Amino acid sequence: MPAVLSSALTRARLLLGGLADVLLPQTCVVCGVRIPADQAPTCSECQENLAAVRRVPYCWRCGRTAKPVTMDEKGCGRCRRERFWNVGGVARVGAYDPPVRSLIVGLKYQGRERNAAYLGELMATALRERPWLSELDALVPVPMHHLRRMQRRCDHTALLAAALAKQLDIPVLKGVLREKNTPSQTRITSRAQRFENVKGCFAARHPQRVHDKTVCIVDNLIATGATVHEVSKVLRKAGAKRIYAAVVARSVIPSDVQAEALTVPDNPPD
Ligand SMILES: [Zn+2]
Ligand SMILES: [Zn+2]
Repeated sequence: MPAVLSSALTRARLLLGGLADVLLPQTCVVCGVRIPADQAPTCSECQENLAAVRRVPYCWRCGRTAKPVTMDEKGCGRCRRERFWNVGGVARVGAYDPPVRSLIVGLKYQGRERNAAYLGELMATALRERPWLSELDALVPVPMHHLRRMQRRCDHTALLAAALAKQLDIPVLKGVLREKNTPSQTRITSRAQRFENVKGCFAARHPQRVHDKTVCIVDNLIATGATVHEVSKVLRKAGAKRIYAAVVARSVIPSDVQAEALTVPDNPPD
C-alpha cells in the first residue's frame, strides 16, 4: 500500500477513534480519567495497581492478608483463635484499600452499577483460585433490609452476586432474608457491638432450597466477620452442607486489631 494512502488511513482511523471517544466517552472505573474505549474498564495505572493488590497473599480460611509462612491447614495466626468463624473458606479480591475501596464506595454509595460488573469479574478470578469452587451449588447474597434499600441507589450485594453468577454460571439463591433493619455496621467501631448489632437479624427464606447444598455467601466486605457469621448460622440451621464466602475485600477495624484474641462464647462453631 502506498505510504501516502497508509498514513491517510491511519489518520482517518485516529479521527474516527477520537470521534468514537467523544461520542462514547469511556472513563476508568477506579480513578475516572478518560481512557480509550478498547482499554475499558480501567486505565493502565489502575490495572497495574489492581494486579498488585490481587497478588497479596491472604488466609484461605478468613480472607485476612497473611504471610504464607503464618498459614496452615487450620488458617492463619488470627483466625485459628476465632472460635466463631464457621465458613469453610473465603475468596477475596484484596484488602480494603485503594483501588479496591474506591470501587466498593462507588458502587455502594454512589450507585455506580458498572463497578459491580467489573468487581464480579475480579471476584470470579479469586474464586477460580479456590479449590472449593467446583463444589458450589448456589451463591447467596447478604440481603439488604427493604427500608435500607429505599435509601440506596442499588442493592450492591445483589448486583455483585448477579455479576459473579454470570461469570461462573452458578445460580443466585436469595436464601436469606434480613428481618431487622439495624444500624449500618460501618457506623460501629467496637467489634463486640458489631456482633451484637447483627445478631438474630437474618432468617432463612427458602430452607428447603438450602438443605444439603454447598453455598457461597456473597458480600462486598468482611471486617470483623459478624455479618458473614450470622448469615452462615442461618444457612447452617437450614441444613446447608458446606458454606463458603466470597467478598470484594477483607478489612480490619481498629478494635479488631486490639481484640484479635476475642472470641464469642455464645456462638461456638457447629
Ligand atoms: Zn484509573
Ligand atoms: Zn485466617
